[in-house]
Amino acid sequence: MSAFPKKTEVVVIGAGIAGTMTAYQLAKRGVPVVLCEKGRVAGEQSSRNWGWVRKQGRDPREIPAIIESLRIWEGLEKEIEADVGWQKGGTLYIAKTDEDLAYFEHWLGFARDYQLDSRMLSPEEVDQQTGSEGRKWKGGIFTPSDGRAEPAKAAPAVAKAFERLGGTVLTECAVRTVESAAGKVTGVVTEKGTIACQAVVCAAGAWTSYFSSNLGHTFPQLKVRASVLRTKPAPLITQSSVSSPGASLRRRQDGGYTLARSGGSFFQLVPDAVKHFPSYIPALKTSMRPKLRFGAEFFKELVRPRRWNGDQVTEFEKNRVLDPTPDPGTLREVLAQAQENFPQLGPLEVAETWAGMIEVTPDAIPIWSGVDDLEGFYIATGFSGHGFGMGAATGLLMSELVMDGRARVDLSPFRLSRFTDGSKLELNAR
Ligand SMILES: Cc1cc2nc3c(=O)[nH]c(=O)nc-3n(C[C@H](O)[C@H](O)[C@H](O)COP(=O)(O)OP(=O)(O)OC[C@H]3O[C@@H](n4cnc5c(N)ncnc54)[C@H](O)[C@@H]3O)c2cc1C
Repeated sequence: MSAFPKKTEVVVIGAGIAGTMTAYQLAKRGVPVVLCEKGRVAGEQSSRNWGWVRKQGRDPREIPAIIESLRIWEGLEKEIEADVGWQKGGTLYIAKTDEDLAYFEHWLGFARDYQLDSRMLSPEEVDQQTGSEGRKWKGGIFTPSDGRAEPAKAAPAVAKAFERLGGTVLTECAVRTVESAAGKVTGVVTEKGTIACQAVVCAAGAWTSYFSSNLGHTFPQLKVRASVLRTKPAPLITQSSVSSPGASLRRRQDGGYTLARSGGSFFQLVPDAVKHFPSYIPALKTSMRPKLRFGAEFFKELVRPRRWNGDQVTEFEKNRVLDPTPDPGTLREVLAQAQENFPQLGPLEVAETWAGMIEVTPDAIPIWSGVDDLEGFYIATGFSGHGFGMGAATGLLMSELVMDGRARVDLSPFRLSRFTDGSKLELNAR
């Protein structure tokens, strides 16, 4: 076993898709990096998501970044010589109502601005695309160049590629806090020791706001519990990731489907949620439409420390892997709805169910940012349910921000200070 690294140039906190991609892109530039993970690589959101990698439906401010992301995803398997389950099968949203169609038409305006290949589908074309008969839908919107990947494979494969470039991955190694002198980062304190460094990228997923609050940087980041199931192998009806009323599906490499639905999620009522509730009211009306849930989490978070030092055992090491319980009622409905929408799938058998905690900003776009009063501290989070697809861009953009002070796409809409500088937060998600 190699010795604990006493110093490096950049420490990345969190080995989800955001952290592994950032570490990998920095290592490609020859930068010494240590990637610290409190649990296991991709133990949280990055292995639990649906696996959609899509430009379709993106907030227009994110389109330049997701174009970069798709470009990287397309070449990733060749570049890192590993299977991440990449498949370009497109994204299809099916319309049930005229209101759905009107929204798709509206979004198509943004797609045209960027010459995306998105287009409306007639009811006949939706049937063709899904092997259906009966044209029961109003139509749809389709982006053929979108893709999908296997969440369980992607971040671990990128972490391995990072190690092959000489990077260090430390699992079961929570970062407790950041050390600084004269307003500049000087190192991190982990549960296993201190690592001196010049920069820190905090890509801690649902933990980022809590971690940063100890450094004096608070921002709204709420947690939404979303349930998912996978089926045993079933007939191939489409290579596209499909959002249909009440059920979304994605073909898996193992021949089954990952099934879930937007709007089947629960907004955890915890003390932070109460504090930031007003800024989230618009987001509660989007298609995610999470239902409010009050439970034991409220009291757990109420008593957790707000401030701590590097010599204290922290919540991070006490909670190695956030593993929420899936909601059986939601998943029963999703399964029934998938069967009803697509009878050509035949009887579906459930192989596994799980849940993940999606972290959401009030404007549903990421934070890719430095912070005002701590030079060398960067934040990459707030992916609001689409950070897997955006993961490849996150790595590239964060590596550029850290090393060059700017990135190839305009990062100003994603600055942390938008939550405090009086800007009006704009929510474009539906
Ligand atoms: C059910 C579900 C479905 C989704 N579907 C999609 C989809 O189809 N397409 C899409 O693009 N996105 C999707 N998403 C969102 C996507 O999964 C996330 O946006 C993305 O994975 C976030 O990656 P991340 O690396 O920022 O966070 P995470 O994967 O959550 O990783 C953060 C890591 O940081 C670690 N960590 C936290 N604190 C510390 C600390 N102090 N020290 C060390 N390590 C720490 C955690 O243990 C964790 O491993 C979905 C999410 C869920 C839950």
